[in-house]
Amino acid sequence: MITLALSKGRIFEETLPLLRAAGIEVLDDPEKSRKLILATNQPEVRVLVVRATDVPTYVQYGGADLGITGKDTLLEHAAEWGGSIGAAGLYQPLDLGIAKCRISVAVRADFDYASAVKQGSRLQVATKYVSIAREFFAAKGVHVDLIKLYGSMELAPLVGLADAIVDLVSTGNTLKANHLVEVEHIMDISSRLVVNQAALKLKQAPIRKIIDAFAAAIAK
Ligand code: AMP
Repeated sequence: MITLALSKGRIFEETLPLLRAAGIEVLDDPEKSRKLILATNQPEVRVLVVRATDVPTYVQYGGADLGITGKDTLLEHAAEWGGSIGAAGLYQPLDLGIAKCRISVAVRADFDYASAVKQGSRLQVATKYVSIAREFFAAKGVHVDLIKLYGSMELAPLVGLADAIVDLVSTGNTLKANHLVEVEHIMDISSRLVVNQAALKLKQAPIRKIIDAFAAAIAK
C-alpha cells in the first residue's frame, strides 16, 4: 500500500492533475465526504486528508509514505528538527510549483514600519511562522517579540496585539480588506513533495513511479 498525505483545499485541488498524470484518480471528494482515508482507482494507493501542518509529521513517522505541503510548513517543521528536513527523515525530491504564494511582513496602513525599523525599536510580530519570522528579522538585525498565533493573523495589528504580522499572501485581498499593507517580501512559497526516507527504500519502485510521473507532469 502507498499512502499519500494531503490537505484539503488548494493543495488537494492542484494535486489532482498530478495524480491523474500518475494514473491515479481519487474516488471521493474531501469537501463532500467526511472520510479521512480516500480510496483511489488503484487499490494499492490511498490518500489521507490531514491538516497542512500535520503533513510532515505523518510522513516523518510513516503514517504516510509521501505528502504534499507548502515550503512554509516544511521550514517550520524542519526548525523543530535542527533546521534540516533530512534530519526529520524526510526526502524532498520535488518542488511541485503548486499553491504558489509568498510570505510577507504586513502592518497597518498607518504604521510607519520604515521608521520603526530604522529607530531600532522592538517590533511586536504576530505569526504562525515563528521560525521563518525569527530568522528573517535576525538577519536584518531587527529586534522582535514574536507572538504565536494559529490563524487570522490579520486581526492582531487591528486590535493592538502586534505591530506587524508575518503571513502568507496570495492575491493580497485579505490584507486589503483589513487595511493592512505588505512592507517586506520574505520569500516565495510553493508546495513540495516529501517522502519518508525509509519508505522510499522499502517501496522504491511504486514510489519512484509516482515521483517520476509528478516530475514529468510539472515539466510540461
Ligand atoms: P489572499 O487574500 O489571496 O492574499 O490570501 C491570503 C490568505 O489566504 C491568508 O489568510 C493566507 O494565510 C491564506 N493563504 C494564501 N495563500 C495560501 C497558500 N498557498 N496556502 C495556505 N494558505 C494560503
